[in-house]
Amino acid sequence: MTNVTRETFDKVMVPNYSPLKIIPVKGEGAKLWDKDGNEYIDFAGGIAVNALGHCHPELVSALKDQASKLWHLSNVFTNEPALELADKLVQGTFADKVFFANSGGEANEAAFKLARKYASENFSSEKNEIISFKQSFHGRTLFTVSVGGQPKYTEGFEPLPQGITHLEFNNIEMLEQAVSDKTCAIVLEPVQGEGGIIPATQAFMEKVRELCDKHNAVMILDEIQTGMGRTGKLFAYMHFGVEPDVMTSAKALGGGFPIGAMLAKEKFAAALKVGTHGSTYGGNALGCAVASKAFDLINNEALLNGVNEKRALFETKLQMINEKYEIFDEVRGKGLLIGAALNDKYVGRARDFIVAALEHNMMMLMAGPNVLRFAPSLVVTEAEIEQGMRAFEKAVAQVVNA
Ligand SMILES: *Cc1c(COP(=O)(O)O)cnc(C)c1O
Repeated sequence: MTNVTRETFDKVMVPNYSPLKIIPVKGEGAKLWDKDGNEYIDFAGGIAVNALGHCHPELVSALKDQASKLWHLSNVFTNEPALELADKLVQGTFADKVFFANSGGEANEAAFKLARKYASENFSSEKNEIISFKQSFHGRTLFTVSVGGQPKYTEGFEPLPQGITHLEFNNIEMLEQAVSDKTCAIVLEPVQGEGGIIPATQAFMEKVRELCDKHNAVMILDEIQTGMGRTGKLFAYMHFGVEPDVMTSAKALGGGFPIGAMLAKEKFAAALKVGTHGSTYGGNALGCAVASKAFDLINNEALLNGVNEKRALFETKLQMINEKYEIFDEVRGKGLLIGAALNDKYVGRARDFIVAALEHNMMMLMAGPNVLRFAPSLVVTEAEIEQGMRAFEKAVAQVVNA
């Protein structure tokens, strides 16, 4: 089956995606190639997943090593790579305990179930309200998509899980009014990713912490996109000096291998007693061995400092391009999670820029229809940033002059 093409997708795949027209077949670092040998600079990074670039040699060897030893056992047994990875996550963060899943959505599903269980065991079954925020994104299972604040993703899937309230992000007064003793959890992304690269304010983060303490609600941070080095710290909460009770990670956690994790303080983790939750593949030896290596490579001062330097270069280049073409209102985000919000003249046209960028051999993302998003590998080089930004400038010129 070597003659599959992009057209094959439309024939045999469920039409829930609309992939771009090229099919990458090989990757190395921040570069990808299609089967005709065309080379691309990758600033999409598998949607903030390939934090160490494509096929990082140390990840490849961790995968190969483990592949010849042991892949899967089920949770009837534990395994060494899972224990090692959990230990590293506990050492490196606020958390005391770890639960492994296979994706971000599953990690959040575990976190939301934990919050309900904790409240019903320690308080009452009436304490079941989850407070979340508009434009947030927490995954595509029915529970996680319902907690997420984007109605377009739940339309037609009703009836939805109940007891979820969506408030305006970063609005402290509204939050103060809404939280009560019926609240079991407040859930937020430190930087809303899919919603448009919108960072939480310091005051908002502190208020969430304060209100969770006051009402015995679980503070859940979804760090699936912001986590593992992306913002220049291991996790984004470390910028705020505010610790969550529960946090989820995925995407960069496995450097491209599917894995998710829910991290929790002891007191909250205790709610998920034997038999209350589980996953057949969650915590499999193969995924954990790769993630364990990814953790070592990302949890490195030089790499994390480099993220801020690389961001500075992106910002300089974006500003230069904007001075010439006037397409953005604002460049925002943290570290190498960069959002460029299009101005009124280009409202709704993010996809046009992405399609044009691909024509100039550069891959990037959008975060909603009005925001261009860059989420490159954390080890992208200066020369690669410059090369990608030259391509971006050509793409911008093409859209602006069309
Ligand atoms: C990607 C993402 C998810 C969902 O992760 P999946 O692995 O696709 O299930 C959840 N929350 C945030 C913030 C994300 O960026």
